[in-house]
Amino acid sequence: MERKKFTYVGREVSISTDFDNGALARVEEEKTNIFDLWPYEDEEYRDGRIYLRSVTGTGWDIANFCFHFRLEGCKGKEIEFRFHIKEREKEGDVSIVYANPDFPVYSYDGNHWMRMENKSLSQESLIEGGQTISVRQTYTKETAYIAYQYPYSNSHLESFVQRALKSPFCRVETAGESTEGRPIKQISITDYDVPIKEKKVVWFIGLQHPAELGAGWGLEGIIDYLLSGSPVAKKARESFIFNVIPIVNVDSVAEGRGRIHSSGRNLNREWERPDPVPEIRTIKRRLDEWKAEGNPIDIFIDFHGFSSRDGRWHLALLPEDAYIGKQKTEYNRLVENIKERIPTAASGPDPSFGYAAGAACRRYKALSMSIDGWVYPWLTEEGKTPDLSTYYELGKTVCSLEEIRSCGAEFVKALVKFLEES
Ligand SMILES: [Zn+2]
Repeated sequence: MERKKFTYVGREVSISTDFDNGALARVEEEKTNIFDLWPYEDEEYRDGRIYLRSVTGTGWDIANFCFHFRLEGCKGKEIEFRFHIKEREKEGDVSIVYANPDFPVYSYDGNHWMRMENKSLSQESLIEGGQTISVRQTYTKETAYIAYQYPYSNSHLESFVQRALKSPFCRVETAGESTEGRPIKQISITDYDVPIKEKKVVWFIGLQHPAELGAGWGLEGIIDYLLSGSPVAKKARESFIFNVIPIVNVDSVAEGRGRIHSSGRNLNREWERPDPVPEIRTIKRRLDEWKAEGNPIDIFIDFHGFSSRDGRWHLALLPEDAYIGKQKTEYNRLVENIKERIPTAASGPDPSFGYAAGAACRRYKALSMSIDGWVYPWLTEEGKTPDLSTYYELGKTVCSLEEIRSCGAEFVKALVKFLEES
């Protein structure tokens, strides 16, 4: 379903999705400054999840939950939002709590995000069979942004790039074009005085799935650390070239989609298809050209949720037989180094066909994996799948943005140690 941009002019404040990453289905103001909000229309839910038809198979593909809007004229006003949502009906699977059961968050600048403390959950809803999350907040500035989770947008990346480009170790290029013609940014970081032949080559990609926002913030944390004055960062710049594509699915980020591309396709199933969407075709061409110029791709990591599951980092590794001989030993050593830095990291075999990580192994002979998970601690201790009510009752919170960003430094340290042991 198309996600249309709009501006709703209320009695005292206005609500708009007419900006990069803005998304919401509908708004109504019941009384002055009391708003009913529909992140999605009733018919977009199926078993309490947001679905889009997938063209990669006969079934449907889960598309996770997302909303982001701007509030204007709110300084000094207490405003109530009632989010009408539909939670999953089946036990044992994730749904709209996929990335943040503790929504919403708000920000005045798009860089610093805060939780709303005043929340309640009701089983009554304007959606049939739905629930309502109500939040009340008094704002200290005229403009505020409200979102499902810490949004990582194209405009945020653009301002980050402007900051990063002040460093002599950073260069930015366009890796290719999206379906809608938006540029896909590639940020490269290295010590350009060291010849490329003396360095290992690392490629990182993120946000194939736009609502897995932790990937964007985590990659930003990696880049910030790489550009820092730390001796480990200096060593990393001298030993590696990092080519980073923080946002692969730029169109869906602009439209405020949760997981899937406007074509209905899941970008992380497109990598070994004969006719991939333009985003993947263009990035593969970029990687092919890189190889054709005689450069290796030593390590390739596809970042997803960049977060914790079971309180652990989840590495999705390639199957046992993906590597043989010396490369197998190297792969295991790389994984061990990452786990050492992130002690509770878990790993499990990934089916990988059509996935970026699998393609990077088969096509480019890279040591390859993806990192996935959720940005909140999973409730295994209670032995049940989390839902909105358990989170609200237990007061669980998502990981702080700083915590997510700081894991970037741990990744860089793991890679440097991996290289030192080679
Ligand atoms: Zn994902």
